[in-house]
Amino acid sequence: MGNDLIQIGSMPPPQGAGAGVSAAQDMALGAETVGDGRTFYLETFGCQMNVHDSEKVAGMLMARGYRPVDSHQNADIILYNTCSIREKAAQKVFSRLGTFGKGRTGEGKIIGVLGCVAQQEGERFFERAPQVSLVCGSASYSKLPDLLAQLESGERRVSGLGLDTEDCFETELTRRDNRYRAYLTIIEGCDQRCAFCVVPMTRGPERSRSGAGILAECGRLVDEGYTEIQLLGQIVNAWQDPSPTRWSFAELVARVSEVAGVRRVRFTTSHPRYFTPEIVQAVDSHPALCDQIHLPVQAGSTELLSRMRRGYSRDEYLEKINCIRKAQRAISLSTDIIVGFCGESEKDFEQTLSLLAQVGYDQVFSFKFSLRPDTAALGFSDTVSEEEKGRRLAVLQELQRQNQLQRNQVLVGQVLEVLVEGFRPRLGQAVGRTTSNRVLNFPGEPADIGCYFPVQVTSAGPNSLIGKRVTGDHGAAAQAERRAAWKSR
Ligand code: SF4
Repeated sequence: MGNDLIQIGSMPPPQGAGAGVSAAQDMALGAETVGDGRTFYLETFGCQMNVHDSEKVAGMLMARGYRPVDSHQNADIILYNTCSIREKAAQKVFSRLGTFGKGRTGEGKIIGVLGCVAQQEGERFFERAPQVSLVCGSASYSKLPDLLAQLESGERRVSGLGLDTEDCFETELTRRDNRYRAYLTIIEGCDQRCAFCVVPMTRGPERSRSGAGILAECGRLVDEGYTEIQLLGQIVNAWQDPSPTRWSFAELVARVSEVAGVRRVRFTTSHPRYFTPEIVQAVDSHPALCDQIHLPVQAGSTELLSRMRRGYSRDEYLEKINCIRKAQRAISLSTDIIVGFCGESEKDFEQTLSLLAQVGYDQVFSFKFSLRPDTAALGFSDTVSEEEKGRRLAVLQELQRQNQLQRNQVLVGQVLEVLVEGFRPRLGQAVGRTTSNRVLNFPGEPADIGCYFPVQVTSAGPNSLIGKRVTGDHGAAAQAERRAAWKSR
């Protein structure tokens, strides 16, 4: 799905053992070292797919001798991995490029634009932002080292914009940012044509990785110490095994969760059209599959869903929700919603609000509609004013805030297992995440990062929970080992 959570982040240099691309990987793959210590800065905009693409791009560059740095001032090569899902996201890269001034090529630096805005603008980028000398879409990332080599040997401008590939961007040379949760892309591209979405034009047609290749990567991730795997795809559940095994998506997630050492598995983003009861059955019978499903609805009115070309009605969506609600364990639900799509009437909007109340989501990612290039919505009239879109968004977000508060308050007193992902020194708080993807903070220490703990919820807000550790053996031996490893870093 193109409308997943928007994140922005730059890629810092690796720190300590366990981060970065290992020499063993490098030697095993025989990567040619051409970077010669030249430095690169890579900043990422957009969804988890972009974040993971950046991890792979960084790994590939590091294996070829380029070195990551944490500011563009210190970099020989500046790369922006861009998002064009909403106008605001697309504008961000132009604002970054403004730093360098038109007409200058960043004082001898190479400036490159990757991702969706690069694909969408293509070589027009060179006119619009003359300081840019490289544009490369996600389907051409494997060519990136060659494109950089061409620039370094004197070419002025290079591009990688082909979409006619059947290949996924597969590389073992991944520079992962998180030491405990690993992203793993299983399908790239999208064959849907939702009227508001530019992704099929920027990421190309669907291409699935083989089931065996995915399982092999899971095994490597466990060997590297990862315990949580997050399977990614624009439509993750449209995955089709291209190999003779022909596993279904439900079989795949079950097999991933059975890999020894894998403790949590998430998958995002599912499309309601491809969401089957077998997926719920797999979650029911495999405890490592998290109690969380993200199922974007986008709107609550069947008429609007049809104009959006989503391929399901309100009732059909609700049938999928009923199926999830019948699972043997409580599954947390999240969704994406667009307000103010072309022709959205007050009645349509009220249906979205009533859907929110009916489903009871634990999290909603909501956005104002903005017209994007190369989408069917360009043929409709954008009838909802910006002011009205803002009002509807505020109403929806306030309703959801109240829903979340109520839903979180029910958890007070319960003991939940968390994986600690961070530490706030000022508050002395460990920042953990439950299997239902809620943030649960509790008094802790830096060495707790990467460990699983039972934590009793003591208070709840709309966006996070507070708790205290309780005793219990949640893999104590493994945790002691992890603690020792952490301390030796
Ligand atoms: S076209 Fe539709 S299904 Fe495909 S990425 Fe965009 S929103 Fe998701």
